[in-house]
Amino acid sequence: METPQLNSLYQQLILEHYRKPRNKAELEDKTVEVHLNNPVCGDEIRLQLRIEDDHIADVKFTGQGCSISQAAVSMMTSLLKGKQLDEAQGVAQRFTEMMHGDEAAAKDKSLGDLRALAGVSKFPVRIKCALLGFEALQKALKQGHAGDPR
Ligand code: ZN
Repeated sequence: METPQLNSLYQQLILEHYRKPRNKAELEDKTVEVHLNNPVCGDEIRLQLRIEDDHIADVKFTGQGCSISQAAVSMMTSLLKGKQLDEAQGVAQRFTEMMHGDEAAAKDKSLGDLRALAGVSKFPVRIKCALLGFEALQKALKQGHAGDPR
């Protein structure tokens, strides 16, 4: 599938993450793992987190698919490492709002590089690509809590 026409600076940032994904590896000491795919586009993401107490101690992913899906999850993992769980939830919520066209969310600095994906909200079939990593994250955060022995 074609990559939507986005602002060229943002386009470069997306391609840069796609070509050199951050945190793309197996996480040996993960505490939770979620595997999701987007059959419409053929995107696949396996997200692995190590949750310690109330924060994300480490996060890695493996996967394949279009530049939007893979760049989004790369940006997401670099942003989330070390974050408190409620902060991570906040980022997921803000990003989802941005993907639904919320202009204030698109300017929110807490989204970091992820703001490069704001233009994707104009391409309904690609929104699912951009959100796949965050869907995996939200599932992982739920499971991480459910599996908490305390
Ligand atoms: Zn895709």
